[in-house]
Amino acid sequence: MKLLSTFAASPYRTADIDLFRDAEEAKVAALLAACPVMHAAAGETVSDAQRARLHIVLRGALSVTSDTRTGLSDGSVSKVLPGESVGEQSVLDDQAGLQTVTALVESEVLLVEADLVWRLIDESNGVARNLLRLLSFRIRAANAQLRRRQKLGEFYRQLSMVDGLTGLQNRAWLNDVLPSLVTAAHESQRPFSLIMIDIDHFKRFNDTHGHVQGDQALRMAAHVLSGALRPSDFAVRYGGEEMMVLLPETAETVASGVAQRLCERMRQAVVFEDMRLPLPHMTASFGVACLRPGQDERALIAAADAALYRAKEGGRDRVALDGQA
Ligand code: GH3
Ligand code: MG
Ligand code: MG
Repeated sequence: MKLLSTFAASPYRTADIDLFRDAEEAKVAALLAACPVMHAAAGETVSDAQRARLHIVLRGALSVTSDTRTGLSDGSVSKVLPGESVGEQSVLDDQAGLQTVTALVESEVLLVEADLVWRLIDESNGVARNLLRLLSFRIRAANAQLRRRQKLGEFYRQLSMVDGLTGLQNRAWLNDVLPSLVTAAHESQRPFSLIMIDIDHFKRFNDTHGHVQGDQALRMAAHVLSGALRPSDFAVRYGGEEMMVLLPETAETVASGVAQRLCERMRQAVVFEDMRLPLPHMTASFGVACLRPGQDERALIAAADAALYRAKEGGRDRVALDGQA
C-alpha cells in the first residue's frame, strides 16, 4: 500500500464514515487528523497479520475473508463499501490475523491503530454508541447465518433419511428411530405394533415387465402404504421390495386390521396407467407383531418377519400374526 496523505489533508470528512456519524465531529476529526490514508491496488492485501487495526473504506471496496483455521468461521467472504469499516472486533479483543482484508478494486483506506480506536471510544460517546450498534448488527447477522446453516444441515439430514425411489423413510432412519420408539413404548407401557411387508413374486413381475415397471410398482406400493396411514404412523423401505409400517400406540388387533386394509388396497392398486397393457395387479404379504414385554427392536422385527414368512407359506396376498400357528 502507498501513503496518500493524512486524514486531515484528505478530502474525506468524518460524516462520510458510518462509525463516526452523529459523533462529536470536531473532537473525532482532531483525533483522526494524523491517521494515514492509504492507496491499495486491486488485489492488494490491506490487513496486517501481526497488528489489530481498523480499516475504513473511503473509496473502492475491500473484501474480508475469515480464517477457517480458528474453527469459528467458515472462510466466507464479505464486502466492505465506502463509509464501512472492518477490524473493530480484532481491535476490541486484540486478535490480529483472524481475517484477511484485500482490496477488491483500487481503493483508498483510512487506517486507525488499536490504541487510537480505544481513545475514540473513551472520548466520544457517539463513537462508542455507533460501535455498539455495529457489533450488535454483526452478531445478529452471524446468528442468522448460523440458523440458516443449522436448517440446511437438518434438511440434508432429513434427506439422507428418505429412500430416493419411494420417498419412504429408509433403513438409516429406521436404525435411528426404532430403538427410541421401542424404549418409549416400554416406558409408557403403551402398545406398539410393527408390520413387515414383502411384495409377492416380485422377481417374476420384474422378469415379465422389466425393472423400470418394477420400480414404478414399488413407488405404487409405497404410495398405497403412506396413503392409508395415520400421521403418527411411519412407512419404511426396509430393503429391495420389503417395506415396514410402524404403528405407535396400536395394539395387535388394530394393527391386524390395518394390515388387512393395506393388503386389500395393494391388491386393488393400478400399477400401469397405460390401458393398452393388460393390468397386472400386485399383491403383498404382511406379518404383524406387537411389542411384548422385554422385547427389543430386533426381536420385534424377527417376530414380524416370522409372521410374514407364514403369510408367504399360507399362499401370499394375506396377513399373518405373530404367535399364530
Ligand atoms: P416372494 O413372493 O417369495 O416374495 O417372491 P419374490 O420374487 O418377491 O422374492 P425375491 O426376494 O426372490 O425377489 C425379490 C425381487 O425384488 C428381486 C429383485 O429383482 C426385486 N427388487 C428388489 N429391489 C428392487 C428395486 O429397487 N427395483 C426393482 N425393479 N426390483 C427390485
Ligand atoms: Mg423379498
Ligand atoms: Mg417378495
